[in-house]
Amino acid sequence: MNDDIRQFAQSLHYKMSKKRDYYEVLGVDRNASADDIKKAYRKLAIKFHPDKNPDDPTAEDKFKESAEAYSILSDDNKRRRYDQFGHAGVGGASGGGAGYGGGGFTMDDIFSQFGDIFGESSPFGDIFGRAGGGGGGGRRMRKGSDLRIKLKLNLEEVANGVEKKIKVKRHVTCNTCGGNGAKHGTALTNCGTCNGSGQVRKVVSTMLGQMVSTTTCSTCNGDGKIISERCDSCAGEGRLLQDDLITLNIPGGVAEGMQLSMAGKGNVPPRGGMAGDLLIVIEEEEHLHLKRDGTNVVFDMHLSFIDAALGTHSEIPTIDGKARITIDPGTQAGKILRLKGKGIKDLNGYGKGDQLVHINVWTPQQLSADERDTLEGLRNSPNFQPKPGKHEKGFFDKMKDFFH
Ligand SMILES: [Zn+2]
Ligand SMILES: [Zn+2]
Repeated sequence: MNDDIRQFAQSLHYKMSKKRDYYEVLGVDRNASADDIKKAYRKLAIKFHPDKNPDDPTAEDKFKESAEAYSILSDDNKRRRYDQFGHAGVGGASGGGAGYGGGGFTMDDIFSQFGDIFGESSPFGDIFGRAGGGGGGGRRMRKGSDLRIKLKLNLEEVANGVEKKIKVKRHVTCNTCGGNGAKHGTALTNCGTCNGSGQVRKVVSTMLGQMVSTTTCSTCNGDGKIISERCDSCAGEGRLLQDDLITLNIPGGVAEGMQLSMAGKGNVPPRGGMAGDLLIVIEEEEHLHLKRDGTNVVFDMHLSFIDAALGTHSEIPTIDGKARITIDPGTQAGKILRLKGKGIKDLNGYGKGDQLVHINVWTPQQLSADERDTLEGLRNSPNFQPKPGKHEKGFFDKMKDFFH
């Protein structure tokens, strides 16, 4: 192709958005090394950066085009497919391009994808201000992300503790390759770009003269190792997303909003490393009859004044099922009965709380003529006159007893 025709074809490209050859876009030959490709891309990225070319409407297109070319040619797998099948091999249809192809590259994609090529320690940091912080130094101690789930517990489960089996969708280590991402778990080879160090030193000419910068190697993402053939099961990621059945041993005494964590039950990072944690946030379901108060459980009981006066037996709900209690004759409203050990386990293992039964005496609100007559007959009876004795504590004394 002579130069005139090539230029004409290029100018047509921007009008017709027909895809150009990626090698041509970056201006490198088909045998170019990873390093050459990166250098070429970096040069173009700086030349066509839209912030530097406010008057050139084609700059952003060119910038995106070179980013797209770089996204393919910088990835061994995609580059191989592209070499074999051209654009069809890496386009949207193949599903391999993580959604690029078809020109759907946005500026944000470019910065999130290739942030580390313009990392902080790079002299280009100023131009690519938005990229900052992406690169980071050595990534040897990799830890996967944490997972957070909500766990609803009823009062019985909160009180006594419970074993729960739950399904969690999480990234687990690929068994086929043992997590390194290589076919059949074969050994990884040293990255040729950085000679296995994971870091690349570059001498760059700037306005201030020559500068040496160290950046994370983008060929191996700082691993220092390269996968020559990818594992079929995990496509080289070293991990698989799957449902994992996890047994949770929830201790008695947990409370709403409390967060428990299980180390190593979160996501495994790509290509090996420590799994993150599984964080379990407790939610308490409300009980129909019982209320929780710390390690105690409170039950509000309503007695007719006949039962309060004559005494009775009654069944009341507790955490462990029904319990039969005796109401003594002459029980006053406001009395609190205590069922020892019928409460909630202490989270730190200091025994168990109690169930407190608050006695309320129900005053009838509607009376028939007969009922009214009966009660009128008792109105002036001496035993119906209130005469609280010294042992009959008032409300404040009772509160004092309970909280001190
Ligand atoms: Zn695998
Ligand atoms: Zn490398």
